[in-house]
Amino acid sequence: MTRKTDSAAVQGLCSCHVCRLVSRRPRFSTPAHCPRCGAALHFRKPRSLERCWALVISAYILYIPANTLIMMETGSLITYRKDTIVSGVVHLWKTGSWMIATIVFIASVAIPLLKLFSLTLLLISVQRRSIWHPMQRTGLYRLLEGVGRWSMLDIYVVTLLAALVQMGSMATVKAGPAAIAFGAVVVLTMFATMQFDPRLIWDPLQKEDIHD
Ligand SMILES: [Zn+2]
Repeated sequence: MTRKTDSAAVQGLCSCHVCRLVSRRPRFSTPAHCPRCGAALHFRKPRSLERCWALVISAYILYIPANTLIMMETGSLITYRKDTIVSGVVHLWKTGSWMIATIVFIASVAIPLLKLFSLTLLLISVQRRSIWHPMQRTGLYRLLEGVGRWSMLDIYVVTLLAALVQMGSMATVKAGPAAIAFGAVVVLTMFATMQFDPRLIWDPLQKEDIHD
């Protein structure tokens, strides 16, 4: 088990969210401001858990239309198809494009869901003040932040698919309503990751409670 330690917050030290200046502020006082840039000082991101939960729940809700509504309409002189993400993956797989089917499945179905599950795990463990594997949970958060930067990969996949279809003669491709829901899931998950304060993972290991 990890040893209980004192954090900067326990010693009354607070880092400014804007200019990153570390300054001392009384621990149980009225709102304090950064002596350098004047921004409000908080020991932890204010209402981090509530905001993160709200964004994660919204993303879960939008994940349903993103996967059940039409993602793409493709048409040519002889065929016309309306596909959801999953039916598109199945179609690609059946027509022999296993590589693209796998990329689309991983980028559009597996990664967004894994990101939401990971955030839910972090939120529940922090809320329960768990001291379970803080290093691994911090690593998971770092991974989520890293993946966030590449989230637009999902959009690239759709663009790539559109380009592939357009190359066929007289073919047309149109994004369906699921594309909006899907884009919203990606953006909401990125915002949820930004709202989560990873220092909360370590707070239950402190000798004293952190407020604000
Ligand atoms: Zn500042």
